[in-house]
Amino acid sequence: MTSRSSNLAIVGGGITGLTLSISLTKHGISHTLYESAAGFGEIGAGVGFEPNFVRTMGLISPALQEAFLTCADAKRPEAFDKTPAFFQYRIGDLRVPERKGLKDNLVAIKKDGTEVKIGEKLFDWRSRPGLRGGVHRAHLLDELVKLVPPHICKFKKRLIDVMEAEDGSGDAVLSFADGTTATHSAVLGCDGIKSRTREIVLGGKEEARAVFSGKYAYRGLIPMSKAVKFMGDYLPLRSQMFAGYHGHVLTFPIAKGTIMNVVAFSSRPTWESEKWVVDSSREEMLKDYETWSPMIKELIAAMPEKPDIWALFNHRPAKTYHQTKPKIVLVGDAAHASTPHQGAGAGVGVEDCYILGEILAAVSGNEDLEKAFKVYDEIRRPRSLKLVETSRTGAQLYELESELGDDFEAIEDRMETRMDWLWDYDIAEDREKALQILKGSANAGSSARL
Ligand SMILES: Cc1cc2nc3c(=O)[nH]c(=O)nc-3n(C[C@H](O)[C@H](O)[C@H](O)COP(=O)(O)OP(=O)(O)OC[C@H]3O[C@@H](n4cnc5c(N)ncnc54)[C@H](O)[C@@H]3O)c2cc1C
Repeated sequence: MTSRSSNLAIVGGGITGLTLSISLTKHGISHTLYESAAGFGEIGAGVGFEPNFVRTMGLISPALQEAFLTCADAKRPEAFDKTPAFFQYRIGDLRVPERKGLKDNLVAIKKDGTEVKIGEKLFDWRSRPGLRGGVHRAHLLDELVKLVPPHICKFKKRLIDVMEAEDGSGDAVLSFADGTTATHSAVLGCDGIKSRTREIVLGGKEEARAVFSGKYAYRGLIPMSKAVKFMGDYLPLRSQMFAGYHGHVLTFPIAKGTIMNVVAFSSRPTWESEKWVVDSSREEMLKDYETWSPMIKELIAAMPEKPDIWALFNHRPAKTYHQTKPKIVLVGDAAHASTPHQGAGAGVGVEDCYILGEILAAVSGNEDLEKAFKVYDEIRRPRSLKLVETSRTGAQLYELESELGDDFEAIEDRMETRMDWLWDYDIAEDREKALQILKGSANAGSSARL
């Protein structure tokens, strides 16, 4: 069974694939979305977006931004603080006072003489004003799906390979695990960290596959009514980072403040299992945090009985995000899967979708796709590769492994500015730059659509 169409193929229906579909739909660019699962679905965990990413959603489509706001707690008053905290940085590891030789659970005595104890706020790691917040992934995905035309979605289509059509058209012929094929002008690979499209574009090169980052995370959701019992009313409704040696625990509210999302990070040199998500137990988790404060232990006791462990893999830098024969371009995690330590993997994927949509809307036909992908690569690769690298070093900083060790004043200073490049970014300038580069090509700039 073979289907032929002249439109684009999106492979993968996660946050990136759906957002890209929304972006292409806005521009009237015809496409089909192939997803390997039987339906759209996300794991039961949280995901956060900072103001610049929420603004980018609005640039793609006001309906997309509204979809996010429908699920977010961005309308809570504290989301509008002039200088909201990305995370309030606290120390949770009892070894800190021990190693520093401080008594009474003190972790630091600040320059102004203030004494800070285990669990108390050391500093606000400030975000930026504007709409931001955490959402339940499944809720967000449900809202995104509503904005994607249903007839373009094909399920149970696991991409196996992409070959160039033999008719000289330059089209891409996609083969799926169910034995079917489909022909499209180009493939937009949104198939995540274990991307097949990435393997095809990067061939046998070692950067095709993700590598273990040395970190793993327990994930779980705790009802807010339960969280307030051991954390009080204030802490669980704001984003908290409890740091320690080689580990840190994040909590933030999702689902409009009704659920507290927990991601507890720990370290090990290697990851042996073939699976990247494995079952665990509260006992195993407690062992990892046995030197941590009573509050963290209560938090662990409140976690689901078998919290998942996620091995955190990331990509080595790709030398390109696209290929020409046949045409494939990588988007979102397929291009730049990162560790989650800056809470921005999905956000940077949303940026990819905005820029790629704008570029594709500005080219006049299939003959310009190659140029379009080249410009996308030029614009997006440096920024998204920087995310992967700074996310890795971010974990080292929070977990007292960087050259700053446990010098909290130096850590605060560094954290104050280290996200400027990520959050104070004008994506509209990138759009302008991309369109300028396109104008330099003979066929670009026409209002005709693909
Ligand atoms: C612990 C953790 C916390 C995080 N927190 C944040 C956060 O707070 N903020 C943030 O911005 N980011 C966060 N991230 C990163 C974010 O989750 C990812 O960047 C984002 O979900 C990637 O989306 P994606 O659509 O590119 O890939 P995926 O979500 O992996 O989607 C890929 C899709 O492709 C499909 N697929 C795969 N292979 C094939 C194939 N061969 N054929 C057809 N379909 C295929 C899959 O079924 C899936 O639906 C976090 C990540 C982790 C691990």
